[in-house]
Amino acid sequence: MFEAERCQECGECFAQCQYADFTKDEAIHEIQALKRGENAAILRQCITCMACNEYCPTGANPYDLILQLHEEKQIHFVEPGVAEFIEETLTSVPNEIIPGDPDKPALNLCVMGHAYPRNMTQSKLFQGLTLVSGSDYFSRAVFLHTGMETKVRTYAGHYVENLAKLGKQEIIFMHDDCYTMVVRKAPEYGIPVPFRAIHIIEYMVNYLKAQPQSVIKLNRKVAYQRPCISRYTPEKEPYVDALFEIIGVDRVARKYDRKNALCCAFGLRETDPERGSQILKKNLDDARTHGAEAMIFLCPGCYWLTSEACEEYGLAAIFITDLCRMALGELPFSSRPWTAG
Ligand code: SF4
Ligand code: SF4
Repeated sequence: MFEAERCQECGECFAQCQYADFTKDEAIHEIQALKRGENAAILRQCITCMACNEYCPTGANPYDLILQLHEEKQIHFVEPGVAEFIEETLTSVPNEIIPGDPDKPALNLCVMGHAYPRNMTQSKLFQGLTLVSGSDYFSRAVFLHTGMETKVRTYAGHYVENLAKLGKQEIIFMHDDCYTMVVRKAPEYGIPVPFRAIHIIEYMVNYLKAQPQSVIKLNRKVAYQRPCISRYTPEKEPYVDALFEIIGVDRVARKYDRKNALCCAFGLRETDPERGSQILKKNLDDARTHGAEAMIFLCPGCYWLTSEACEEYGLAAIFITDLCRMALGELPFSSRPWTAG
């Protein structure tokens, strides 16, 4: 939610935006125009990367104001047909609950089964967990990219209720979108969350720390594709570094990482493919130039949509759970290692 009273009109949000080219004064003009509800230029330049929420030094959440105005003014960064397709396909995925050890948490896999690495849940990492998937467990947070927060807000209560019915004290979230929904958006909408949400990276860090003798250090240089939605939960970022340290990979210090991370630009594929390709090229060039051997993905969507491009650039495309499986000796260090299986 945009916190108007926190906004000091400093312009940092849009002056730092990597997809617009505003001077500080222009950026101040943009935020002032948005606050008046006007049709500011940033509304059409924004690619919904959510980064300005993190650039803002006062926690005013300027992206949430863009999101609100995108919806009010029906400005679509993603083609409406694409949003409809997402809705049709992802809200009709059959639900499945595979019971695990009653004393262990559940793992929410939502609706991204098509995008996760094949055989992912056969890893010893996930032994004993109750596995849940399907549309009842899909947060709809993807619509925070499409100017449709009403869909997210409307479904939030059902989402939390469906998860609460599992009767677990702790639920692990594989998808950053779903995690963001329960730790950030649901509380913002006034919905109590009656279980502890554990991010998949936090879970893997604790799993590996509990059995250091099982970890084979990989000694590799990697780049990290930070998901846009991670801008809502930057407090979990230390777990990413902790994980890389435990498994012996060096997260290369490149330009487009951490606060400067670039969006995978999937939304531009339909609306402005040339711009999308330029963003992707900048990102992958940066990873290669800084010596990365692989791009590590947390978001299954980014992984699914950009793995091929990574491979064309000579970067192995590795989902973060597979990276852990490599350190556990379950998979070789290679791009999408499961494709041969
Ligand atoms: S939203 Fe934040 S960064 Fe943007 S002008 Fe307001 S205080 Fe500054
Ligand atoms: S969400 Fe990203 S693209 Fe949009 S204004 Fe903020 S920083 Fe720029």
